[in-house]
Amino acid sequence: MLGQMMHRPLAVIELLKFAADMHPNGQLVSVRTEGDIHRYSYKDAFLRTAQLAHALKKLGVSRGDRVATLAWNGYRHFELYYAISGSGSVCHTINPRLSAEQMIYIIEHAQDKVIFVDTTFVPVLEALKTQLPSDLQIVVMTDAAHMPETSLDVQCYEDLLAGEPDTFDWPELPEETAAGLCYTSGTTGNPKGALYSHRSTVLHAMTLPLSIPDSLKEGNNILPVVPMFHVNAWGLVYAAPLIGANLIFPGGKLDGPSVYDLMNTETVHSAWGVPTVWQGLQAEIETRGAVPNGFSSVIIGGSAAPRSMIDKFEDAGVSVCHAWGMTEMSPVGTHGILPTHYRKTRSVEEQRGLQSLQGRRFFGVDLKIVDEMGNRLPHDGHAIGELYVRGNAIISGYYENEKATQDAMDAEGWFGTGDIASITADGFLSIQDRAKDLIKSGGEWISSIDLENIVMGHPEVASCAVIAIAHPKWDERPLLVVVPKGEARVTKPEIDALLLQHVAKWQLPDAIEFVDALPLTATGKVSKLTLRQMFKDYELPTGEQE
Ligand code: ADP
Repeated sequence: MLGQMMHRPLAVIELLKFAADMHPNGQLVSVRTEGDIHRYSYKDAFLRTAQLAHALKKLGVSRGDRVATLAWNGYRHFELYYAISGSGSVCHTINPRLSAEQMIYIIEHAQDKVIFVDTTFVPVLEALKTQLPSDLQIVVMTDAAHMPETSLDVQCYEDLLAGEPDTFDWPELPEETAAGLCYTSGTTGNPKGALYSHRSTVLHAMTLPLSIPDSLKEGNNILPVVPMFHVNAWGLVYAAPLIGANLIFPGGKLDGPSVYDLMNTETVHSAWGVPTVWQGLQAEIETRGAVPNGFSSVIIGGSAAPRSMIDKFEDAGVSVCHAWGMTEMSPVGTHGILPTHYRKTRSVEEQRGLQSLQGRRFFGVDLKIVDEMGNRLPHDGHAIGELYVRGNAIISGYYENEKATQDAMDAEGWFGTGDIASITADGFLSIQDRAKDLIKSGGEWISSIDLENIVMGHPEVASCAVIAIAHPKWDERPLLVVVPKGEARVTKPEIDALLLQHVAKWQLPDAIEFVDALPLTATGKVSKLTLRQMFKDYELPTGEQE
């Protein structure tokens, strides 16, 4: 029997409309490319979003069209998110760190009609000029006074908005209508598109504050270091207006000192980002001897948070929530907030151990681990298998990509994450590795993440990565690549002694190599693919592991 409730379609624009109505003074603070700080309220943002929706119409954008952005976190990017989806078209965020080839591929694949670009990234488009589709319109996100000299045919964002009415007749759309499009960073092969709907976006926004309430609460100042150009800044752009938290947009200055200063002056309570960013911030905290003013919560995800990073934050009074997710999951899937009674019944050591895992599932996300035959494995903390997910904000296939869809989905309609994991009986996900990063040694697996997390705790190590090197006898053996902190070079016996407190002897890396910096992916994670290429002819010392 069918229920008899009204069917009001979930709509992204309702999040901002609600904020303008119920949190009219909630603030959006942006470090601008113009060099200053811009401040306005959700109410102001809603008015300008209406103006932008009119401007989009004049540009010829109609329902279902894809409109691209190439921009830092900032208020104009925020307006674009809402105006584009609110008027029924699709906001396609492009990661400016993608290679030229990948960028052209996704602009063509998405068939973008207009691209909105920050002044910083105008040179990126200039370099692609001859390859850009001839009918792609380009709008530079600044005012007339700051328009750059360029050989491109461009329009000015503020000029487009000027004089437009500040109300818009937002259409009522079926909730399955596409609202956003984001391509995976495509470390292998071409990037693949995740097409988010209004429904999935709103549901994801509603579940975030349920699970991470200490960060996402009314009046809190939240810093998304996670970019809006990739997976919607982990959904913050939608969840913050919903609950009335203020957003502090950092623009392009993401180094430790700049992030520290911004957090200090804007009294940021909670900050969200990948471990590489927090390394920079922690170095700055060490230099200055105190955490930024008001800083009390950090959300770490995108790659594994090392135990030493968690300890440093927690010891300084900043509570850590370690989260896991994927572009294909909108993106957040699990969160590391411990059940309250664990805070009372578990030792600090046990609590920190649990925080090092990837946390428990959100409402609307189901997890299963399977063996090579696709059989389900128990959630007992021991069984390790490939992780599959299902949920309200998870893709059912890739945008216009049948082949990738077939590869990713199983017969029951679950999405294969490509991660290898175990799950404890009380629901904590433990990511062992990405399937392609695991090291296969003599028929056994070695987790690169495990080794990295331990080595990161060494005081002379700034950052590190473990990769597989081909080995004639064992198939693969681990190589540890270290970025030293200062002049000193940590020795193999020292590293072995540290690792042996946690792992078996056969899992020890065969060698250590030192580099000045680790290569990063377009989303700021260590690029294992590039590292493996860098060391593809590497010869391991003989005599190890015989
Ligand atoms: P991006 O495009 O941002 O690189 P992906 O969607 O490709 O993002 O990244 C998702 C992958 O990142 C996951 O499948 C997982 O391997 C890794 N990942 C994300 N969060 C964590 C975490 N907390 N711990 C370990 N790995 C993580």
